[in-house]
Amino acid sequence: MRIGRTLPPAASPIGWKSFFHGLVGLGHGEKELERFKGEFCSYFGKRHCFLVSSGKAALTLILRALKERYPGRSEVIIPAYTCYSVPSAIVRAGLEIRLCDLAENSFDFNYEQLAPMLESKRVLAVLSTHLFGLPANVARLQGMTDDPEITVIEDAAQAMGSEYRGRQLGTLGDVGFFSLGRGKALSTVEGGVILTNDNSLAEVIQNEYGSLPEYTATDTLKLILYAVALNLLMHPWLFWLPKSLPFLKLGETIYDTDFSIKKLTSFQAGLGRYWRNTLANSKQIRSMHVSNWESVITGSFTSTQESTPYPLIRFPVITDSHQAAISIMRQSEDAGLGIAWSYPTAIHRIQQICDQFRGLEYPNAVFVVQRLITLPVHQYLSNRDVVAIARLFSKTGVAPLRPLKKNNSRTINNRSNDES
Ligand SMILES: *Cc1c(COP(=O)(O)O)cnc(C)c1O
Repeated sequence: MRIGRTLPPAASPIGWKSFFHGLVGLGHGEKELERFKGEFCSYFGKRHCFLVSSGKAALTLILRALKERYPGRSEVIIPAYTCYSVPSAIVRAGLEIRLCDLAENSFDFNYEQLAPMLESKRVLAVLSTHLFGLPANVARLQGMTDDPEITVIEDAAQAMGSEYRGRQLGTLGDVGFFSLGRGKALSTVEGGVILTNDNSLAEVIQNEYGSLPEYTATDTLKLILYAVALNLLMHPWLFWLPKSLPFLKLGETIYDTDFSIKKLTSFQAGLGRYWRNTLANSKQIRSMHVSNWESVITGSFTSTQESTPYPLIRFPVITDSHQAAISIMRQSEDAGLGIAWSYPTAIHRIQQICDQFRGLEYPNAVFVVQRLITLPVHQYLSNRDVVAIARLFSKTGVAPLRPLKKNNSRTINNRSNDES
């Protein structure tokens, strides 16, 4: 166990000023929620917005609404490498998971594999996923089907504030959602946001939403205490403490379909009183770190073609081998550098659901599981941390370093996808 300065892998601190406005928001009740909702609608240019208790709750609500709208359809296509919350939500909504492998050198779909899957009259929805905030090719997906009963859902859980060619991620699909969980671009302890311009879909979601429970007084008190804990403990000088408590299960990825689906509280809406400033500041810092990592560290994936760095929430690096990834992770743990694995398995290998994928293989997803590690890009990352991480990479000799300031990186990204 490490005691002393330890970077968290991701951090989106709430801050005491926002905490105060959370308490004020609690007093304002419904009015505070209407303000928060209205701001999302105008910022993202969408007519309808729904605020719920998590990203997976948001996805479940969307899927339940679609299921009601197209009762003959039951399948949801997702990437074979993504957050465990996604299959959890599909199962929770009473629908079936269909997997498509990643393309080589990308976190986006293998579109050749996806094309025939879209022919099926059982497909209800496809999730375009901006992993780490890297844009997936939503336009290409939309161009691949003209079936009016297939909905393109944009999983922008990790991508709030990221843009692709001047358009906000989360606004490109038929319906999109964000997560306001800890470690995402913007956090209100927990929370989820649904955005859409589709009036009839919004009507069905509104019905579902209307019947959702609210947080009880006890739940709300827990939220408030959790916000205090996050404010204190996500700081590098204290993060070693929660990290060393195994019952907190920090950083563990758990498949669980038994999550609660509630309306967001006015406390959380109040925490988001200054969300546009918070997001803008955090975007600036994260873009800067992304740009730094791009110039220093060489992964083994595709090359960067666009000049402006994306405000990722973690910086993905594909190492030369699984052994190399293990070695870097071990050293980072010892030194408290905040490097983290991403998801521990591909979706078809999640214990609780692997039976339904027997005989199916998703090699690119498995490749990513074995080789991918992620570097911190948050505000607590100091110059000394950057130097220490760069030194760790060069010592391990697994992902060669570039001389600083040479703009020629080869980190994993989806930017080379053609916009066809
Ligand atoms: C975090 C996340 C979700 C779910 O959001 P929660 O608020 O944690 O429920 C869904 N998809 C992706 C890609 C995520 O990273």
